[in-house]
Amino acid sequence: MTDYFSVKNPATGDLIQEVKINTEEEINLALKKGHDSFKKWSKINAHERSRLLQKWSKKINENKEEIAKVMTMENGKPLSESLGEVDYSTSYIDWYAEEAKRIYGRTIPANTESKRILVTKQPIGLVAAITPWNFPAAMMARKAAPALAAGCTFIVKPAVETPLTTIKFIELAHEAGIPEGVIQYVNGRGSMIGDLFSNSDYVRKITFTGSTPVGKELIRNSADTIKHVTMELGGHAPLIVAADADIDYAVKQTVGTKFRNAGQTCVCANRLIVHESILDEFTEKFVAEVKKLKVGNGLDEGTTVGPIINEKGFNKIVAQIKDAKEKGAEVVLGDKYDANQEKGYFFVHPTVLKNVNTDMIIMHEETFGPVAPITSFKTIEEAVELANSTPYGLAAYFFTTDYRTGTYLHDHLDFGIIGWNDGGPSAAHAPFGGMKESGLGREGGIEGIEPYLETKYMSIGGI
Ligand code: NAD
Repeated sequence: MTDYFSVKNPATGDLIQEVKINTEEEINLALKKGHDSFKKWSKINAHERSRLLQKWSKKINENKEEIAKVMTMENGKPLSESLGEVDYSTSYIDWYAEEAKRIYGRTIPANTESKRILVTKQPIGLVAAITPWNFPAAMMARKAAPALAAGCTFIVKPAVETPLTTIKFIELAHEAGIPEGVIQYVNGRGSMIGDLFSNSDYVRKITFTGSTPVGKELIRNSADTIKHVTMELGGHAPLIVAADADIDYAVKQTVGTKFRNAGQTCVCANRLIVHESILDEFTEKFVAEVKKLKVGNGLDEGTTVGPIINEKGFNKIVAQIKDAKEKGAEVVLGDKYDANQEKGYFFVHPTVLKNVNTDMIIMHEETFGPVAPITSFKTIEEAVELANSTPYGLAAYFFTTDYRTGTYLHDHLDFGIIGWNDGGPSAAHAPFGGMKESGLGREGGIEGIEPYLETKYMSIGGI
């Protein structure tokens, strides 16, 4: 009997589509197909791989409106954000279509005249990816594009909440002429597919974006077959506003980074750390700006904050706000909900909390919701200590017009991505990734293709 899971619109709870759950046998066959296809794909010259990636990007662009609509329906984010995510995704495909042609080797001077030493790069083999629901297109594209550019084959398991965008992307890759065995998807329960990927001898690399506990499990399970791993995991981004910051500018940028995707992003500002001398002014201007946000169905004109992806996510947000209130936080705005458990939709109105302290769960746990907790600091050293007091190290932001404060913060913050007067630092041409428990490896930039390559060294003697 064939099993299906339901993909529902988180803004309404309505069914969008039933998606087939792949059996263990089908998944193993897909892994074999990916492995077998590697022999041919890895030998296709880099210029041809580049051309195919360009065609894929073009096809996605031609179908941009339709993909964005599907994305908004399954994820809930405003349509404008979905359109932006499609562009962001193709920017990775375009970037790696170029990088395919720049996988250089090296020659090394030998210690004898009779030898030559060559260093070359080769693709590592079949790559298995597992992706989250919050960026259903981009998290897949920034893994698939460098993998294919390097000459690897690729298989992905999208999140059960948002498989439709991924399916569409991969159908378009096939339409663009990328062979079916080179890029594939499978659907089903995470732990089952994760185990099959981790235990398979065909898979040479696991690349994962998602929560830190699942990332740790995948690293452990990949140990037996010594697979390469790239892990893009959770975050708990601090955002520091120094006394000399341009407050109006900082407020606008903070609203952007905090409330994009209803606060359900791994790099979203989770802890607002504001200098005590500007705390009142910042809070007042921030609240005025947050009040302009409009909660609703992402397909409706003017919506800027969509629903929370599911009940589990909603409950976590509500519990964090409740805990903060019980421990002395003051609600300046929000703490309002529009939820219907029976129908299956859960909205949280943008919420601003002040008088927040480190006893509160919200200062330690990723929120993944439209809640901005504000705390204050006296000295820049204190701000750094607070910012770094987390096992996470993905993104950090700060606002200052003083270059000494800026360089000090850059040097002392233990985070892989830093936005200095910049609430949106992520770009295809730059390395994205975290330190500490936020992950291993980088995606984007010249760094983003290296994890898909092996280094081979050859010593030629007797010359
Ligand atoms: P999640 O870890 O629950 O799920 C992510 C993916 O893993 C999904 O496809 C899911 O089906 C699958 N999965 C679940 N359990 C699994 C298991 N035992 N083995 C293998 N796969 C399994 O995370 P989520 O709730 O979907 O996404 C939110 C998390 O992702 C947040 O922690 C967020 O910070 C993180 N994230 C990180 C980045 C980054 O680049 N660092 C980007 C986006 C999201």
